[in-house]
Amino acid sequence: MKLGLVGLQDKAAEYTRLAGRLAIEARDRLRPNAYVAGGMAPPRGGRSPVDAVDLPREFAMQAEALKESGVDALLIEYIGYVDDIVAAVDVVKPAGLPIMIGLRHITDEGDMQAGETFEQLVSALGPRQVDAILLMCSKPKAISAGLPKLRRAFAGPIGAYPNIGYTRAGDPLEDGHQWHGLDTETYSPADLAVDGETWLAMGARILGGCCATTPDHIAALRKVVPESP
Ligand SMILES: [Zn+2]
Repeated sequence: MKLGLVGLQDKAAEYTRLAGRLAIEARDRLRPNAYVAGGMAPPRGGRSPVDAVDLPREFAMQAEALKESGVDALLIEYIGYVDDIVAAVDVVKPAGLPIMIGLRHITDEGDMQAGETFEQLVSALGPRQVDAILLMCSKPKAISAGLPKLRRAFAGPIGAYPNIGYTRAGDPLEDGHQWHGLDTETYSPADLAVDGETWLAMGARILGGCCATTPDHIAALRKVVPESP
């Protein structure tokens, strides 16, 4: 859908495969023992609670293309409604790769964006295998509020990649929009490292950064994350 805005909808699978291959090439060159997760987000930004047509179509295409590219896992991210998440897991499952979920816009109270609970999510997923649940694109303090709740609801690996800051101007589908990274002085690499240690103590095993994260933030965070076995 997004490539369709510039007339390139026929290139979607090709570009998705290429994105996966570029990440794998970088991994092979720089850190061969790292894993590459192929990310996919709802095509409408998940603006409606159930994206019943576009989401399954696009996620099926992306899961297949990313698998062909050779990624190690799939990351369903920037998703926020239970029904969308369950539909997404079902549609990417046939690719046969580990599935991680990145839940967006956690509230300051540490709940899912529309008031649904992590218990409701885990219950709705039922027997479906989900290999990690992460909180993402949320304020650091929302991550701190949400991780303990997620830990209580979900027994598998958890983690977080907060946004460092942004402001939104305009509506993306109606009048154009711009995202602006805030001055990272407002949330420094050292701040992320401090929060990262807190999140590790809350049980997080995968950490990173979302909007406006800089390489310096990741470098600071890396210092507090134990080396993988
Ligand atoms: Zn973000």
